[in-house]
Amino acid sequence: MSAITSKNKMATPVALNTRARAIGRNLFRQIGRGPSVFQRAWWDDRLMDLTLGDPLVKVQLFRFIDAMPALRTPEAIRRHLVEYLAEAGERVPWWLRLGVALSPEGSPGERILAGASRFGATHMARRFIAGATPDEALRTVLALRRQRIAFTADLLGEAVISESEAERYQQTCLDLIRDLSKRLNQEPEIPLIDRDHRGPIPRVNLSLKLTSLTSRFDALYDDATMRRVGERLRPILRAAREHGAYVHVDMEQYAHKDLTLAIFRSVLMEPEFRDWPNVGIVLQAYLTDTEADLQSLRDWALQRGTPITIRLVKGAYWDCEVIWARQLGWPIPVHLEKWRTDACYERCARFLLENHETLRPAFGSHNIRSLSMVMATAELLEVPVASYEIQTLHGMGESIQQALVAQGKRVRVYTPYGAMLPGMAYLVRRLLENTSNESFLKASVAEHVEVEELLRDPEEVGTMWGRNQKPNRSNAAHRAASARPPFRNEPPTDFTREQARNAMEAALSRVQGDLGRLYPLNLGGSEVSTGKEFTSNDPSASSTVVARFARARPEEARRAVSLARDHASDWASTDPGLRAEVLFKTAEIMLRRRFELAAWEIRECGKPWREADADVAEAIDFCEFYGREMIRLAEENRRDVPGESNHIERIARGVAVVIAPWNFPLAIPTGMTVAALVTGNTVILKPSERSPMMAHLLGEMMREAGLPEGVLTILPGFGDVGETLVSDPRIDMIVFTGSRDVGLKISRQAAEVVPGQDHVKRVIAEMGGKNAIIIDDDADLDEAVAGVLQSAFGYSGQKCSACSRLIVLDGVHDAMLDRLVEAARALPMGPAADPDTAVGPVIDDRARERIEAYKALAASEGEVRLSVDPGALSDQGHYVGPLIVSDVQPEARIAQEEVFGPVLAVLRAADLDEALRIANGTQYALTGGLYSRSPAHIARVKQEFRVGNLYINRPITGALVDRQPFGGFRLSGIGTKAGGSDYLLEFLLTRTVTENTMRRGFAPELETQSATV
Ligand SMILES: Cc1cc2nc3c(=O)[nH]c(=O)nc-3n(C[C@H](O)[C@H](O)[C@H](O)COP(=O)(O)OP(=O)(O)OC[C@H]3O[C@@H](n4cnc5c(N)ncnc54)[C@H](O)[C@@H]3O)c2cc1C
Repeated sequence: MSAITSKNKMATPVALNTRARAIGRNLFRQIGRGPSVFQRAWWDDRLMDLTLGDPLVKVQLFRFIDAMPALRTPEAIRRHLVEYLAEAGERVPWWLRLGVALSPEGSPGERILAGASRFGATHMARRFIAGATPDEALRTVLALRRQRIAFTADLLGEAVISESEAERYQQTCLDLIRDLSKRLNQEPEIPLIDRDHRGPIPRVNLSLKLTSLTSRFDALYDDATMRRVGERLRPILRAAREHGAYVHVDMEQYAHKDLTLAIFRSVLMEPEFRDWPNVGIVLQAYLTDTEADLQSLRDWALQRGTPITIRLVKGAYWDCEVIWARQLGWPIPVHLEKWRTDACYERCARFLLENHETLRPAFGSHNIRSLSMVMATAELLEVPVASYEIQTLHGMGESIQQALVAQGKRVRVYTPYGAMLPGMAYLVRRLLENTSNESFLKASVAEHVEVEELLRDPEEVGTMWGRNQKPNRSNAAHRAASARPPFRNEPPTDFTREQARNAMEAALSRVQGDLGRLYPLNLGGSEVSTGKEFTSNDPSASSTVVARFARARPEEARRAVSLARDHASDWASTDPGLRAEVLFKTAEIMLRRRFELAAWEIRECGKPWREADADVAEAIDFCEFYGREMIRLAEENRRDVPGESNHIERIARGVAVVIAPWNFPLAIPTGMTVAALVTGNTVILKPSERSPMMAHLLGEMMREAGLPEGVLTILPGFGDVGETLVSDPRIDMIVFTGSRDVGLKISRQAAEVVPGQDHVKRVIAEMGGKNAIIIDDDADLDEAVAGVLQSAFGYSGQKCSACSRLIVLDGVHDAMLDRLVEAARALPMGPAADPDTAVGPVIDDRARERIEAYKALAASEGEVRLSVDPGALSDQGHYVGPLIVSDVQPEARIAQEEVFGPVLAVLRAADLDEALRIANGTQYALTGGLYSRSPAHIARVKQEFRVGNLYINRPITGALVDRQPFGGFRLSGIGTKAGGSDYLLEFLLTRTVTENTMRRGFAPELETQSATV
C-alpha cells in the first residue's frame, strides 16, 4: 500500500493504466523498434553483444575497462586484457582470443591491440560523457539546444579524499556557472526549454554531489560535515543566483541520504536563500524510505514558502546497496523486486504532480512505461505540460528525447563532463545499468520483449511475481530444526542513523557521571583490600580519572591461582552446553549495554566512536561464536566403525592465565577469556593496567550471566602480577596478546619446569606486526588512499594489524604519495568523544614519548612528507599527529621495528618482485595487503606474501570473527587463529578411548551417541 494518499482527481486505476498504455504505444510507434531504438551505435557494438551474452565475460570486460585509465603502456594494456580474459576462459569468443594471440608481448601487434582497446573504451566513454573540457561541454550543450533540448551539467570527479580536491571541485563548479552563463544568456530564447508555465527558467543548470565538497562526508559527524559542506556550497549557490543559473543536488548512496537532505534543507532555509526557487534535489524510488521523504520535503517546502524541484529517479546504486547491507548485516534499504521500484516510482510521480507548485517535478527515466504513466497522470490531474520536465542521461534514450520534444515536452539531458580517468567509474555504472537483467532498455532493445509486456502495470507484474514464488521450505525447516540460529557477525552500529548517534551521546553522558569511582579487588566473591590503588585516566584529557582500582599484588596473584585450582574440577565437569549458555547470556548483556560499553572505551582508551563500537561487536561475536563452537566440539566425539568404538574426549587443560592488551580493550580480553572458560578452564585475567575498567565490566557481565564465583578472577595490576602468574607451577596455560618482547619473555618463563610440576605450560601468544600494503601500478588510487588511511591511522595506528609500511610501485609512487599526504592532512585530530575525530590520542604518555622518538628517527631515515602537530591538544591529552615518511630503505629501523602509532614508512619498489621481497623482509608475519587490478599480480601476491591475514583491495584491519580468523606467525605469534574454528582446540586436551566391541564374531550395531565432554 502506498504511504501517499492522493487527494485530487480520481480515476480508476484501470482507466489510468489504459491511458498510460495508449501513450506508451504511441511513443513506441514514434520511435520505432529494433536495434535502432534509443541508440543504434551503442547496441550494435560488438563489445555489448559480448557482455550481454555472458555474465562472466561481462564482469571481466567491465573490470578491464575500469582499470584502463591506469594502464600506461601497450604492454600493460595487453597484459591486463590477457589476464582478465583468462579468467573467463573458454567463454571468451574465438575472435577476441585470436586477436590477443596474434599480438604477443613486444610485437607490433601489441601496440595495435593496446591502441584498439584504448580507442574502444574511450569511444564507449564518449557516448556517456559529454566532453573532457569546459569547451567540449559547451559544444555539447549548444548542440542540445539546437535540438530544443535543455541540459544539466554534471562534473565528473575522482572520489574527493583531500580538502584541496574538494576546493578544486568547488572552483570548477563556480567557473562552470560563470562561463556557461556568460555564453548561454546571450543565446536567443527557446521557449520550450527556457520557460515553464510561469515564465523564464534558468538556462544554465548544474548538478552537483555534496560528497565532492568535503573529503569527510559522514553522518557520524553531521554537524562538522554540515559546516564544511555548507561553507563550500553557499558560494556556489550565490554564484548561481547572481548569474541566473540553477543548482541541483544529486543523490548518492543510502548512507549519505539523510545528511544530504539535512544539508540541503538547512542551507536553503537560511534567509539568504529562502526565497530562491532555482534549486532541487534527487529522490530515489528504489529506497523504501522515499515516500516518507517526499512527504516530509513537501511539508518543509511549504514551511519554507518557496518551491524546489524534485528529480525523481529509480536509483543508480542498487547492486552496491544490496552488497553493502549484506556485508554489514544491516537492513537492505532498497526494494528487492524491480516491480516494487517501478510501482513506487509511479506513486511518487503522482504525489509530485499533485504538489507540482511546491515540488516542481522532473522525471529522470528511460523507461517508457514509467514515463507514460507520468504523462497519463499529469493529464488526469490537468497539470500544465510546461510545469514538469523529463530528464534523461547523455548517451541513453536519444530517440525518446526526440519523440518527447516532438510532442512538446520539456526534456533535459544530464551531461557529465570531465577527464577519462574519473569518467570510468561513471561509465562502468552506466554499463552495469544497461546490461542488467532488470533494465528496461535492455529488455526493449536487446531482448525484444513485446511492447504490451513492457507497458505492463508494475503492480500487475507484482501479482504475477507473487503467484510464482514458492515458500522457502528448506529455510523454514532449518530454522525450526536448530534451536540456536547459525552464527552471524553482530552488525556494526549504523551511525548515519540519528537514533544511534543520540544513543551514543546519551551513553557518554551517563558514563561521565560514573567517572572516578573506586573498584575493590574481588577474590571469589569477597572484596579484598590490598592497601594500594591505581587510576585509569582518559587519554583524551589525561587529568580526568576514569576509574580507580585496588591494585593486585603478587600475593593476590597466588591466592587467585589457588582459587582457580579449587574450582577447576567442578567447572571442567560442568556440561559444555551450560558453559556455552553463560557465553550466550554474556553476549545478550553486552548487546543490551552496547553503547555504554563503547562509551567506557572512548573514555578509558581514547577509541573513536566507530572503533569502540566495532570492539564491542567483536566481543559479542566471540561469545556467540565460541559458544557454538564448544557445542559443536562436544557433539563431535565418536569415530566408530563396526566392531570398534572410538570415543574422543576433550578435557579442559586446567587453569588459564589471560594477559590482555588495552588496544581492543573489550574484544581481546573477552575472546581469550571466554575461549578458556567455555572449554572448561578456570581463568585469571590480568588486564592491561591501561584498561582495567573494561575488564571490570567484562567480569560484571559474566557474573550476571551466571558464571560461578571463583571460575574467573580479574586481577587489575602491573607487570609483577603477570610475572607471578606466569611462573606459578599450578597454572596450565597462558594466553597472551601484546608486544613481542613480553610475548617472548612469557614463552621463556613458561618453558621452565620447576620441581613438582607435572606438565608443560601451553602458551598462546599473539604478538606484533610490521604490516605492509603493496600498491600496484594499476591500483585504483581512490580506493588505495582511503584503505591506507584507515589501515595506518585508524585508532592512531595502535593495532597490531595496522599498516606501518607502504610499498608503492614506481609507476604510481609519486601520485599515490601526493594524494595520501593531502588526505592524511585532512584527518581531524581531537578527543575520542568528539564524533568528528579521525585521529584521537594515543594511550598514554609513555606511548607518546616512544612514538615521538620514532618520529625523530624517521626524519633521519627518510624524507618526512607529513608530520601533523597536535598543537594545543597536547595540553589536554596524549596526542601524536600522523607522520608519513618516504624514501625509506627496507632495512631502516623505521621499516623494521613496530612503532604502534600513527607512523607510516613509504618505500618505493621497481616492480612486484621487489615489492614482495620488501614486504616479506621483516621478522613479522601478521597482516598484509595489496591494491591491484591485475588478476595475475593478485594471484601471485596471494601465493607469495607470507602473512597470517592477507587482504586484497581493502583495508588490512578489522578482521571479523569466523569470516577472517586472525593471527600471524614468525615473530608475530605462534600461528593460532583467534575467531577461527580451530581456536578452542588450543584450550583442550584430547583423549581417545578405543574399545574392541566384537565378541565371537558379532558386534553391536553402530549407533550415533553423544556423550559429554
Ligand atoms: C537525469 C538523470 C539524473 C539522475 N540522477 C541520479 C542521482 O542523482 N542519483 C541516482 O542514484 N541515480 C540518478 N540517476 C540514474 C538513475 O537512477 C538510473 O538511470 C535509473 O535508475 C534507470 O532507471 P530507468 O527508469 O531509466 O530504467 P529501468 O530499467 O526501468 O530501471 C532500472 C532501475 O531499477 C532499479 N532496480 C534494478 N533492479 C532492481 C531490483 N531487483 N529490485 C528493485 N529495483 C531494481 C534500479 O534503480 C535500476 O537502476 C539519474 C538519471 C537521470 C536520467
